[in-house]
Amino acid sequence: MKKITWFSLIFLYALVSGCTQNKAGAGKVKADENFYTLEDFSRVEKYDTHSHIGVYDTTFIKQAEKDNLRLLTVNVYSGPSSNIEEKQEIALRLIEKYPDRLAYLTAFSLEGWDEPGWQAKTLAYLKDSFEKGAIGVKIWKNVGMELRDRDGKFVMVDDPRIDPIIDFIERSDKTLLGHLGEPRNAWLPLDQMTVNSDRNYFAEHPQYHMYLHPEYPSYDEQIAARDRMLGKHPKLRFVAAHLGSLEWNVDEIAKRLDKYPNIAMDMAERICHLQYQAVKDWQKVHDFFIKYQDRLIYSTDNGVNKKSNFAEANEDFHRTRVSDWKFFVTNEKMSGSYFDESFNGLKLPKEVIDKIYRTNARKWFPGI
Ligand SMILES: [Zn+2]
Repeated sequence: MKKITWFSLIFLYALVSGCTQNKAGAGKVKADENFYTLEDFSRVEKYDTHSHIGVYDTTFIKQAEKDNLRLLTVNVYSGPSSNIEEKQEIALRLIEKYPDRLAYLTAFSLEGWDEPGWQAKTLAYLKDSFEKGAIGVKIWKNVGMELRDRDGKFVMVDDPRIDPIIDFIERSDKTLLGHLGEPRNAWLPLDQMTVNSDRNYFAEHPQYHMYLHPEYPSYDEQIAARDRMLGKHPKLRFVAAHLGSLEWNVDEIAKRLDKYPNIAMDMAERICHLQYQAVKDWQKVHDFFIKYQDRLIYSTDNGVNKKSNFAEANEDFHRTRVSDWKFFVTNEKMSGSYFDESFNGLKLPKEVIDKIYRTNARKWFPGI
C-alpha cells in the first residue's frame, strides 16, 4: 500500500510538471518551430538552379558546399563567339569530380539556324548532351532580340522553325529554361529604372538597353511571343528564368502561373524586384509566395569565368546567399544597394522555404 502511494505520487508529479512545462512553452515553441532562423542558413540543404561556371577551377563549388547548396550550372549560347562545346566540357569535368553537388543544362547553337541541316545538327547535339547527362536546355534572349531572318525581321521564340527543337526537348522529358525578353526596366531610360542592378547592367550593355532601340520588338511583344510558345507546347516542362521577365509585378507573374500549369519561375537576379515590391506592399509579396509555393525556385545567376577573381566572387556569392535567406526566412528590416528604401523580410514558413530552396528544384529539374 505504501509502495503504491509512493509510485502514484511520482507519477502524479511527472504528469503535473510535464503538463505545466508544455503549457508554459507551447505558444513560443510552436511559433518558432514553423520558421527557420538566420542561423539555419548552412544547416538547411538548398539548391541554386541558375549559375554559370565557366572555369575548371573548383573553389566556386567548394564555397557552395560550405553554404550547403547544390548547383545547376547553365550553358548559354550567347552568340557566335560563345563556345558551347567548351562550356559543356567544363560542366562534365566538374560533375565528374562533384557528382552530388552539380548538374548542368546544355544549350544549342543558332549559327546558320535558317540553313538546311541546322535542325538535324541541333537535334543531334542535344541528343548527345542528354546522353552525357544534361538534365535540360537553356534558351536565351538572343532569340527575340538579336536573331533575324533573311528579310531582317526579328525571330521570336514562337517561330515555327524552333518548334521541332522544343518538341524534342519535351519528348526527351527534359526541362527547358528560358530567359526571354528582359526586365521591363530595359525599356525605360536609366534614371527611371527601379533598381540599381538593372541601371548598371544596361549602362554597361547598351545593346540590350531597349529604350535605345525602339525599332526592336517591344516588351509586350517579347512576353506575348513567349506566352504563344507556351500555348503551343502545353506539355513542355518550362522554367521561366528571371521571374519570366515579369519581375516588376507579382500579379503579372501570377497570371502566367495560373494560365500555364506546366511552368515554374526561377528568381535568378530578380529577388531585388520582389524586395522593391515589398517596400509598398509586403503582404502582397508574402501572400504571392504562399499561394505559388510549388512554382517558385530559388536561384541567383551567380557565375565565374576566366576573368573572375575567384576569392572575391566567392565572398560576394556567400553574402548574396545569406542576404536572400534573411529576406525569405526572417521579418527583419533590411536595406541594400539596389534601391534606397528599406523593406522587411517575408518570414515564410519552413515548408515554403523547403519548397523554394529544395523540393521545387527537384521537381522541375528532375535529375538535379
Ligand atoms: Zn543566367
